[in-house]
Amino acid sequence: MDKNITKSEGNTAVADKPKIGEGLVIKNLHVGIEGREILKGVDLTVRQGEVHALMGPNGSGKSTLVNALMGNPTYEIVKGTATINGENLLSEPPDERAKLGLFLGFQYPASIPGVSVANFLRTALVSLTKPRARTEADLLTESGQVREDTAPQQNLGLAQANYVGRGGVARPTSPAVKEFRKNLREKLALLKMDETFATRYVNDGFSGGEKKRLEVLQMAMLTPKIAMLDEPDSGLDIDAVRVVSSGVNSLRGPEMGILLVTHYQRILNYIKPDFVHVMIDGQIVRSGGPELAHELEAQGYDWLRPEGAEEGVDDNV
Ligand code: ADP
Ligand code: MG
Repeated sequence: MDKNITKSEGNTAVADKPKIGEGLVIKNLHVGIEGREILKGVDLTVRQGEVHALMGPNGSGKSTLVNALMGNPTYEIVKGTATINGENLLSEPPDERAKLGLFLGFQYPASIPGVSVANFLRTALVSLTKPRARTEADLLTESGQVREDTAPQQNLGLAQANYVGRGGVARPTSPAVKEFRKNLREKLALLKMDETFATRYVNDGFSGGEKKRLEVLQMAMLTPKIAMLDEPDSGLDIDAVRVVSSGVNSLRGPEMGILLVTHYQRILNYIKPDFVHVMIDGQIVRSGGPELAHELEAQGYDWLRPEGAEEGVDDNV
């Protein structure tokens, strides 16, 4: 029996919340990098509406977990399963995982010079509404005939191309585009970001705080079922941690589950987790409520280190 599920069910504060499906369910996940096993059997369940903090020393495998779940090809799935509301994640490419409702805010976001934040977000939203690419098997019968039910796929709403009217004159901005801009302005305000932010190139010349805010802005715009945030607090001063936290808090709700990866307890003063898990040497060695984070703050991680576990490599203190 998955011990994390037992813990979740024992927590009345969370049991009272409406449940939408079973959320993200990870079972016995083993992940390797270049043939070296990093994750050594991870079990974790994050339901929509719950906030889970994943803590642990640097090098313990926190980023490996979230990156492997999102489908980063550097990380090889050796064994185990991961599903969102029953749908298998691990057989899907990253874009399909996103369509299933999974989101990852990176620890080290990349910059994309030449692509504006607004364009990036709109393109991402359009892609999320696109139907899955169909394979030959979807389109043809076994004898090679075109299946009768293969009507052309339609993109609705945001995915509609902008219509250019007679004489090449663009029609007034479509409702979908207006709606997008309104939504973007609201979310920018929520994260205390200036509107000019939307016109800047993705992460190009951004400060550490701006990069992390953009990760949360993406989460706000894409409204995933399960959002994984990899150290949204790293490198931020306390004011920026507050802003990022209040942004995340405003997105909390019964429809979104959050897996918040953090090395430090500090951000958990602002984003109160329902559950805290500690990863050491590729395994979750302890799960508990918010009080566990305070114990870690007082005592560090060493008391939880199993006999013989390697010291993590502190590569990003
Ligand atoms: P955490 O996020 O908890 O700090 P990571 O998941 O980043 O830990 O790292 C776990 C282990 O995997 C570390 O020993 C790290 O050096 C190694 N590792 C992580 N990413 C890579 C990579 N791209 N190539 C090689 N080793 C890696
Ligand atoms: Mg990390």
